[in-house]
Amino acid sequence: MNLNHYNTILNTIPANIKLVVVSKMHPIEQIQCLYDAGQRVFGENRPQELKAKYEALPKDIEWHFIGHLQTNKIKYIAPFVSLIHSIDQFSLLQEVNRYAAKNNRIIPCLLEFFIAQETSKFGFSMKECEKMLHHPDFLSLKNVKIIGVMGMATFTDNKTQIREEFKMLRCYFDQLKNRYFSDDPDFKEISMGMSDDYEIAIMEKSTMVRVGSAIFAL
Ligand SMILES: *Cc1c(COP(=O)(O)O)cnc(C)c1O
Repeated sequence: MNLNHYNTILNTIPANIKLVVVSKMHPIEQIQCLYDAGQRVFGENRPQELKAKYEALPKDIEWHFIGHLQTNKIKYIAPFVSLIHSIDQFSLLQEVNRYAAKNNRIIPCLLEFFIAQETSKFGFSMKECEKMLHHPDFLSLKNVKIIGVMGMATFTDNKTQIREEFKMLRCYFDQLKNRYFSDDPDFKEISMGMSDDYEIAIMEKSTMVRVGSAIFAL
């Protein structure tokens, strides 16, 4: 494991922005190496893989779930996950709430928004999201805590387009903050930015970047 990439990236990220090291598909030894270098926040996108890594590695790691989550797999991560970035449907949030209650926990969650020009990506539209927020059952969810939003930009070289998409996510965050979460200091996270676009995301006021391949590159 070459720590130069990690150190370089860490040095370009302002201290108030959280670096989530996306360790999916990378072995436990490499994660341990980054842990030894001081990294404590890791992201994974497969529930079983996440569970196995949680069990094998130090318990003060903050594990984030970042991928599309199927309801039948929530059980693998509900006992320990620190943040789910990818709530993309009301029914998923309801199921996460159910498993969190079973584990006597309150699980922090981000609402994923669809901001890209790619049909393969997941996420709410503002309209769908507001429909959920107005639903009477939404307020009865006591074991999940919405702390912000997440989004993925289009996979493209067009930096202007990426920047516009991040601006859009920022705008969704501001609207939700003003309309629904103005009294809630915990609603403050904007998870955007990956290896190829985290610098643009930081310019657009990301609070959390999810970086994988740029750190694990040889
Ligand atoms: C894989 C993944 C990342 C990290 O992508 P890199 O390009 O490897 O930095 C970030 N977010 C999500 C949701 C991912 O699935």
